[in-house]
Amino acid sequence: SKILVSGVSGYIAAWVTDCLLRRGYSVRGTVRSEGKGAQLVALFKERGFEPEKFEYVVVKDIAEKGAFDEAVKGVDAIEHIASPVHLQADDPQELIEPAVNGTVGILESALKYAPTIKRVVITSSSAAVLHIEPHPMVFTDEDWNEQAIQIVEKEGRLAPNMAKYRASKTLAEKAAWHFIQSHSDQIAWDLVALNPPFVFGPVIHPVASITALNTSTAEFIAVALSQNAGGRTEEELATQGSCWVDVRDLAEAHTLALEKTDAGGQRMIVSAGPYVWQDWLDVANSLSDLCPNRALPKGHPGAGKSAVHKIQLDSSKAARILGLQYRSKEETVKGILEDLQAKGW
Ligand code: NDP
Repeated sequence: SKILVSGVSGYIAAWVTDCLLRRGYSVRGTVRSEGKGAQLVALFKERGFEPEKFEYVVVKDIAEKGAFDEAVKGVDAIEHIASPVHLQADDPQELIEPAVNGTVGILESALKYAPTIKRVVITSSSAAVLHIEPHPMVFTDEDWNEQAIQIVEKEGRLAPNMAKYRASKTLAEKAAWHFIQSHSDQIAWDLVALNPPFVFGPVIHPVASITALNTSTAEFIAVALSQNAGGRTEEELATQGSCWVDVRDLAEAHTLALEKTDAGGQRMIVSAGPYVWQDWLDVANSLSDLCPNRALPKGHPGAGKSAVHKIQLDSSKAARILGLQYRSKEETVKGILEDLQAKGW
């Protein structure tokens, strides 16, 4: 069967496509330009897939009305992954508009023009789940990040950039569930939302240079694999962190989310566990033979072991329904170091 993957030029979507192709699906990816489409055709050919298994369509702006009307025709399911991921928005609407309109738009197009689809999976985020608390918290799939929406409503352009991004993800996922509810009598398919935390791991999507990497990979390299640790103090490295998942496991989760009947109608946190930055520094140093020319930051080795993890995510629902296995921090760092070495970065 044929799966539509939006934003296939991106970090996560390229891996999702790779996983789907490996499992025998055909993929139609959406890109913003013919040039990017051609690069992706070349990528998946190079990765050994039959050329007829991957095609692309140009969707210049996911926020435009009817943007996906043509793209959805004839597909069996949709993985909606495209959304702006950066922390430079001045006006919060720069993020919120494409996030929300893109999500509602692809659902509208599916309803109008894809009567045979069975499921839509959207890449939401733990950003739509968690909120900031002074004390440690365990969040579940029942939690919603109302806090980010309130901050952005109150502070507008002056809101912290992370709050703007988190609001965009929360509003987009809410809009998706609302759409499903309000059209339930016309919809024969179901929705799945996946809520991953920070996504780390090797990169396969076309990237012109190390400065053009996606946001989560760029931050990982800046802090965990650069000599000045992104300017963080030893104290910060030992106490600051979040939760994470390997991009290859998240790609597997997107595939399983299509295949597991019980996933229908669920939102699921997909997390391998918590980290503080020092954990990654220690793992990288233990694998330093993989990157002989890289000056790794040391921090204070072992100081992460006693860290109190402020944000913890309960991913037991995904474990139950998807039966997903997670890679370890060692496997993730190994994948990244080998990738950087191969790219000469
Ligand atoms: P990328 O920036 O690598 O990918 C984003 C994709 O969306 C790109 O293909 C981009 O196209 C496309 N896109 C963005 N805005 C538009 C627009 N207005 N019109 C058309 N296409 C657009 O990021 P990731 O792969 O990291 O993120 C993918 C998804 O995963 C997002 O929904 C993100 O919120 C979510 N996510 C990411 C996490 C992470 O740590 N990386 C964590 C949790 C969730 P182009 O390449 O042309 O710019």
